Amino acid sequence: MSGFVQHGPGEFCPVMTRPGELPIEPDGTNPTPAPDWPASGDCRNCGRWGVIYETPPLDPAQADLAERFARWFGGSLAWDLGVREPYAPLHKDLFDLHARVEVVVLAGNAGAAPVTAQQCRECGGDGWPCKTLRVMAEWHKGVPGWDERWSA
Ligand SMILES: [Zn+2]
Ligand SMILES: [Zn+2]
Repeated sequence: MSGFVQHGPGEFCPVMTRPGELPIEPDGTNPTPAPDWPASGDCRNCGRWGVIYETPPLDPAQADLAERFARWFGGSLAWDLGVREPYAPLHKDLFDLHARVEVVVLAGNAGAAPVTAQQCRECGGDGWPCKTLRVMAEWHKGVPGWDERWSA
C-alpha cells in the first residue's frame, strides 16, 4: 500500500502505509474519517505537516481504448484457437503474460502530481498494449474492430 502527502504546491511525498493506515498522523484539527476531508496531519514519511493527496483515477479515454483492445484481441485469439491455428496457444500465453496493470507514477517534471497510468505487467513501460502485444496484433489487423492507435 502507498499513498501521497502534499506539503505544498508541487511537493508530493510518497508514503508506504499498512492496510487501513493513513499516510499522515492526524493532527486532530479534522477528525478522520470525516466527510470534510482532505485530512491533514504529520507525514509518516518525513514528519512535516501535510494534506493527504488523492491520486485521480486513470483517464477514462485511455482506459476505454485499452479495454477495447483486450476484447478485440482476446476475441481474435479465441477464434484462432477454435480453428486450431498452430501459433494460437503461444500467442494466447503471451497475451495472458503481458497483462494490463494500473500503477501510480510520479511522471514528468519534478513537482508534477502523481498520476494513475497503465502499463504491461511484463514489460513495464508507459501505456498498454505494450510493444510485444502491438507486434502480435499487427497480424490480426484484418479482424473487424482494429484501431490504428494499436499499431506497433
Ligand atoms: Zn512528507
Ligand atoms: Zn508487455
